[in-house]
Amino acid sequence: MKKILGFFIFFSGITFYASFAQQIDSQKLLADLEYLASEKLEGRKTGSEGANLASEFIKKRFRDLGLTSQFTDFTQSFDFFNRREMKKYSNAANIVGFVPGSESEKLIVVIAHYDHLGKKDGKIFFGADDNASGTAALLAIAEYFSLNRPKHSMMFVALDAEEMGQHGSKALVEDFPFPIEQVMLNINMDMVSRSDQNQLWAVGTYHYPFLKPVLQQVDRTSSISLMFGHDEPDGELQDWTFASDHAAFHRKEVPFIYFGVDDHEDYHKETDTFENIDPDFFIEATELILKALKEFDTVLLEK
Ligand SMILES: [Zn+2]
Repeated sequence: MKKILGFFIFFSGITFYASFAQQIDSQKLLADLEYLASEKLEGRKTGSEGANLASEFIKKRFRDLGLTSQFTDFTQSFDFFNRREMKKYSNAANIVGFVPGSESEKLIVVIAHYDHLGKKDGKIFFGADDNASGTAALLAIAEYFSLNRPKHSMMFVALDAEEMGQHGSKALVEDFPFPIEQVMLNINMDMVSRSDQNQLWAVGTYHYPFLKPVLQQVDRTSSISLMFGHDEPDGELQDWTFASDHAAFHRKEVPFIYFGVDDHEDYHKETDTFENIDPDFFIEATELILKALKEFDTVLLEK
């Protein structure tokens, strides 16, 4: 009995420590965002040299982390037609990394688009918040789960061509390397690095209410407020159900949570720069999303 009690104290001590420790490398997180939103990458427009540099950067990281992939060189290539430009794009590229689960074949798919608007009239649209932020967060979260094996298998996908009509996510679900029913949950991050109100929206619980209590639990441990909404068809708030890449999963009836902030003054402008993000908010938001993922990885298994 004494021994068991000793163990209990020992393990709860570890848990206590772990819940307060930072779980991601915040310097690396910020450096990744800064690089992806740098002049060198010229706004990462699909098909551009800048987008190619971004995808090479993401692939190298996945390789260094020891992730596997269902696609050669982590790359799912796809073509699409852009109606606005009346132009066909070939060899757009989703970058796909994989960590096998320790207890389940079921999947959690974590996504963030890495493309942005590129250059217009000689001006670079840097897309720091939209969506170098989500992409950097994706890399940090992939790193965490490459070191701490999840119970469910996890797929990490940096998506291309969101800005031209969510073509990357459509290509991913249409040519998904597993039966789509195997996906338990989709987590999308699109704009997670600044909020004057210190608020991060978790969109999707209107459609998938069973996910809400898990998020409410996680919210208590964070200094930023997790907000619910933006997912009702006729609600007071604008409906974001189809506003980003989670839509492709929702159409396949895969439960999703989309994490993002309100549109801000630099949204889709050349002033969406690294200097204009909020580093503290971004680090805290990424930590919060990681905590949510860890919680979902545990809770969904028990359902
Ligand atoms: Zn975006």
